Amino acid sequence: MNTDALIACPYCDALYEIPQDPIKRIRCSRCHTVLISPRKGAGLKIIALAFISVALVVGALLTPFLTIERFWLSNEATLLDTILAFEGPLRLVAFGLLAVVIILPVARFLLTLYVLTPLVANRSVWPGAKGAFIWAERLKPWSMVEIFVLGCAVALFKIIDLANVELGPAFWMFVVLVIVMTVQNTYMCRWSVWKDLDR
Ligand SMILES: [Zn+2]
Repeated sequence: MNTDALIACPYCDALYEIPQDPIKRIRCSRCHTVLISPRKGAGLKIIALAFISVALVVGALLTPFLTIERFWLSNEATLLDTILAFEGPLRLVAFGLLAVVIILPVARFLLTLYVLTPLVANRSVWPGAKGAFIWAERLKPWSMVEIFVLGCAVALFKIIDLANVELGPAFWMFVVLVIVMTVQNTYMCRWSVWKDLDR
């Protein structure tokens, strides 16, 4: 049997035979996970969105995350200021946050760019591209930007009674980043990438 023509559902392990050159989305009939979603020009869109994401992360690091005002006192802080303000064991937690909110997502965008750029340009893949794609997928559950945004929104809502809180540009950049990442994910067809990498 030609195993190249088979695909296993990553969630329920159901095995399917792939039609030759599938043109439309294929879902697992048991758990409805999308197995294949080939789209024309998806690679270029993913690359563009990865560039936008990196720019958003850099912008979010450099601009104020929030401003807090209470009576005549006002304080403005960027994400980096906040992380560096922690001391002792809490600093470790703060650096963990920096990893899952900034470092890992950026690493994933860069790995994706490394894998997809030669594929989109119709060139031979760059060395270690398969390993890079495996790592981009492995890091996915650890990239927690959306959880961070949701957590911040809840925390800020709680302190709104105590002080005047204004969300800075960095917060909104994170919100846009979550949307961009979601769109990027819908364009990404892992099966198509692996097929191109094997070619
Ligand atoms: Zn399934």
